[in-house]
Order: sequence, then C-alpha cells, then structure tokens
Amino acid sequence: MEMFDIIVVGAGPAGLGFVRSLEGSGLKVAIVERLSEAVLADPPEDGRDIALTHASEAIMEKLGMWRHIPEAACGMIKDAKVVNGRSDYALHFASAGSGKGYLGRIVPNHLIRRAAYLQVKDLPDVTLICDSAVEAVQTGQVTLSDGRALGASLVVAADSRFSETRRKMGIGAEMEDFGRVVIVCEMSHELPHNGVATECFHYEQTLAILPMHGEVSSVVVTLASDKAEAVMAMPDAAFAADIQARFGNRLGKMQLLGKRVAYPLVGVFAKRFVAPRFALVGDAAVGMHPVTAHGYNLGLTGGALLADAVKQAAAEGKDIGDIRGLLPYERAHRKVARPLYLGTNALVKLYTDTRLPAKILRGAALRLGNVLPPVKARIVGQLTQAVAGQGAQSR
Ligand SMILES: Cc1cc2nc3c(=O)[nH]c(=O)nc-3n(C[C@H](O)[C@H](O)[C@H](O)COP(=O)(O)OP(=O)(O)OC[C@H]3O[C@@H](n4cnc5c(N)ncnc54)[C@H](O)[C@@H]3O)c2cc1C
Repeated sequence: MEMFDIIVVGAGPAGLGFVRSLEGSGLKVAIVERLSEAVLADPPEDGRDIALTHASEAIMEKLGMWRHIPEAACGMIKDAKVVNGRSDYALHFASAGSGKGYLGRIVPNHLIRRAAYLQVKDLPDVTLICDSAVEAVQTGQVTLSDGRALGASLVVAADSRFSETRRKMGIGAEMEDFGRVVIVCEMSHELPHNGVATECFHYEQTLAILPMHGEVSSVVVTLASDKAEAVMAMPDAAFAADIQARFGNRLGKMQLLGKRVAYPLVGVFAKRFVAPRFALVGDAAVGMHPVTAHGYNLGLTGGALLADAVKQAAAEGKDIGDIRGLLPYERAHRKVARPLYLGTNALVKLYTDTRLPAKILRGAALRLGNVLPPVKARIVGQLTQAVAGQGAQSR
C-alpha cells in the first residue's frame, strides 16, 4: 500500500485550498479527484459567481490564488440592498464608513477552481491522482476505482455536500432539502449597476443581481423545483425579458450571456467534522444555501483552520491523525458555521413563506434593520473585516 501523511478526497476549491494552506509543512499529501487533470487546469464555466468577503480575499491572497484571478472578470460589491416583494423600500448596506472601498468581491467559480489548481499542481510534496475516485474508505485508508489502496495518518474528505466519504465513515449530516432550485447566469444590461448588489425577495421567486465587471451582472433566480424546468426551457430572449421585468427595469434592457445553470438547493451540516484519522472540509462539512453567500467563504476559513491544527501537531512531533489535535478545528469551525447555517435557513424560510404573518414580519425586519444602525454596522463589519468572524452577510 502506498503511504502518505494526508489523503484529500476531492480537488474542488476547498480541498485544493486546504492543501495549499499546508505548504511548508513538509507533509506528503495525495489528492484524489474523479475529474481529469485537464478539467482541473481549465474548468468549464458553471454559472456560479462567488461572492467573497475581505477575509476570503486575504486568504486567497496569502495562498497565492488571487494573482491568478483576472481583475477584468470579477465584480466589486460597493453597496447591497435587500427588497421585499414589489415594495420600493430597501434595507441598504453601504461600504462607505466601513473604512473599505467595497463590501466584497465576486469571482466566477471556474476561475477560483483554476487558481486553486495552479497553486497546488507544482507543490513538491503533493501527488495529484486524477481520473480516479475514492470508492472505499476506512480509518487511515482509501481504495481507488482502479483498485489501488492508499494509506495515511489522516484522510480529509472534500468531496462536496453529498460526500460519499463522509457517509462511508459513518458520519451523518443534517440535510435541509428546500424543495427549490437556483438558476444562475450572467446578463449584460444597458444601465450601470454602480457596484450595487440587490436581493429581491418576491413571493414565489427570489432574484439576486450581483455586480460583475462593466455592464454585466450575475443573476441568481431561486424558485420552487416544479417551476424550474419551465424557466430553464424559456427561450433566451423571453427569459431575459422576464428578469428585466422582475427587476423593475432598473438596469434597462437586459440580455443573457452564456448559458443558464440550475442547482437543486439542499443545505447540509455534518454531525461531526472530525473522527480518528479523518476530517471534513468545504461543503462536505457545511453545505450552505447560496442566498447568504457563505459556502466557499466557510470552505476557505475551515481549510485554513484545519491546516493550522495539522501543522501544529506536525511541528510538535505529534500524530496528525490524533483526534485530540483535530478537535480544536471542529470546535472553531462549528462556532462560526453553525449560527450562519441556522440563520441562513431561517432567513430562507421567512422569505419564501407566502403567508401573511411572514410577509408582515419580513417587511418589519427590513425597516428595523435600517433604523437600528448597530445591526447594519455589525453586518458590514463582518463583510469587510480582514479576518473571518461570526455573523450574517447579505447577498
Ligand atoms: C449557485 C451557487 C452559488 C454559490 N454562491 C456562493 C457565493 O456567492 N459565495 C460563497 O462563498 N459560496 C457560494 N457557493 C458555494 C460554493 O460554490 C461551494 O461552497 C464550493 O464550491 C464548495 O467547494 P468544495 O471543494 O467543498 O466542493 P466541490 O466544488 O463540490 O468539489 C468537490 C470535488 O470532489 C470531487 N469528488 C467527489 N466525490 C469524489 C470521490 N469519491 N473521489 C474523488 N473525487 C471526488 C468532485 O469531482 C469535485 O471536484 C455557491 C454555490 C452554488 C451552487
């Protein structure tokens, strides 16, 4: 059996970010990925534009990923507005006064994936095993689809929110199937967005418009699963006209760029993040509803926390798979992720509930948010702080 210090299952942005965070530790790492290396090197567009906090931008900068992100392909959120139904009243988050020129950045997911790959591919202690899936796992050991067995002091699952590795290691997860689908795409428009991100909570559909480069926005439509097929089947021009109308023509004429991609919405929170010789990172630990844009932000901070725990154990000559060294990661990550997960799910329920009390409550919530400056200041602070903390973001 071929031996490593760490085996990472999944070369998604979280798994690769974690591996990059281990740089300099001298630990021998294998990453097993089902996709080919050609796909990792040039990932196809997947419609997702990822909103990143200042803390995430700082981590990506530190990991050397940021320099591979072309500035011209990204967006900058200067202000954010939340609108309830057709009302013109908005809860407004402004970057002015935060000491930072913007609330966050938006980067297409395929560019994040490519940047993460570029920063890992040449690391001397890292072996990338592509075109190969982990089919079986047990404590300190995995078996690949080609029959090879690999052993390690620590196996890290970064194989998505539907992690098979997590399930096979006997770790359950809370799952919240929202019965909804998110449709994402980019659209060009006549009028400038001025760096404003807008989230419109209509009664049956949620529409988020996020500022990308130039006169281009990322469009995120959330709707009941049984309505999604019809929206995906709409001709491009009809879809664009529908979004334009739903957005109250605020951006003038809108046109679809590229394709629409649909994702089913399932929130996932693993019961545990660690076990003896085993840990979860990224969506495998916490798979968020995208409305509050926390998923990869948590993937980055969680990966950095786990890498710190592992590096500390290695530096002290301890067994890196010992659960006593892994538990501080679980505690620290859970402390940040749990309130965000529960808060996001509660928000989703409030804003998709079409009953009258919920409609009144969310109207009141927006107004309260505007007249209680400490609440807003806290949210803006969490978006713009250089080190990740706890709280809600708005998207
Ligand atoms: C529509 C949408 C919008 C989003 N917007 C935001 C946002 O604005 N901000 C934000 O922070 N986050 C956002 N997210 C979340 C973000 O995209 C995810 O958190 C992030 O992509 C998760 O990365 P990951 O590496 O954990 O998992 P994944 O990207 O799912 O990667 C998992 C990898 O594991 C591999 N794999 C799986 N099983 C195996 C196996 N058995 N063997 C080998 N390899 C395997 C897969 O091939 C894949 O490459 C959004 C998500 C969606 C769907």
